[in-house]
Amino acid sequence: MNISYTNKCRSGKKECRLRVAPPKTRRTVLRQMADMVNRKQRSRMMAAVHGSNTSPEIYVRKKLFAAGFRYRLHAKELVGKPDIVLPRFRTVLFVHGCFWHGHSCPRGKRPASNVEFWNAKIDGNIRRDRRSRVALKRTGWSVVVIWECRMEPATKALLRRLRTLGADCRD
Ligand SMILES: [Zn+2]
Repeated sequence: MNISYTNKCRSGKKECRLRVAPPKTRRTVLRQMADMVNRKQRSRMMAAVHGSNTSPEIYVRKKLFAAGFRYRLHAKELVGKPDIVLPRFRTVLFVHGCFWHGHSCPRGKRPASNVEFWNAKIDGNIRRDRRSRVALKRTGWSVVVIWECRMEPATKALLRRLRTLGADCRD
C-alpha cells in the first residue's frame, strides 16, 4: 500500500507540503506481525503490547471462574497483596512473572547490562516474596505460586487440588 500523506505547513504564507509517513494503524501492525511470527508468539506479543487480557494472571482467573471457583483480587489487607484469594479454601495465589520475580528458568535470565541495578531489584523482589509467603503461612494460609512459564500445567494442578479440597465448598 503506497499512500502518501501531506500536511499543510502551519508557519509559512506559502503553502508548503510536508511528506509524512502514513500513520501505522493497529491493523497494519498486526498484519506485519503476522508475517513475522507464528500464532503463539504473536499472542504473547499482543499480551505484552496491551498489558493485557492474556496476561498470566487473567489466564488463571478465567480458568478458576470457568471451573466455578470464586475469588477476590489483590487483597490489600494481606501481606504481599496476593494476586488472587480463595477465601473458602484459605488459599492465596501469586502469579509471578519469571523475570521480575527471579525464576530459575530461561525467562528469568537477568540482563547482561546494569547488572547491579537488576540484581538489587530482582533479589529484593525474591526476598519480599519469601517474607510474604512465610507470613501468610504463619497465619494459616496456603500459598500457591504460579510461574508464568508454568502457567498452564500449574493452573491445571491448582484446579485439581481445589476440586479435591471440596468441589461443593464453592463460594
Ligand atoms: Zn519461569
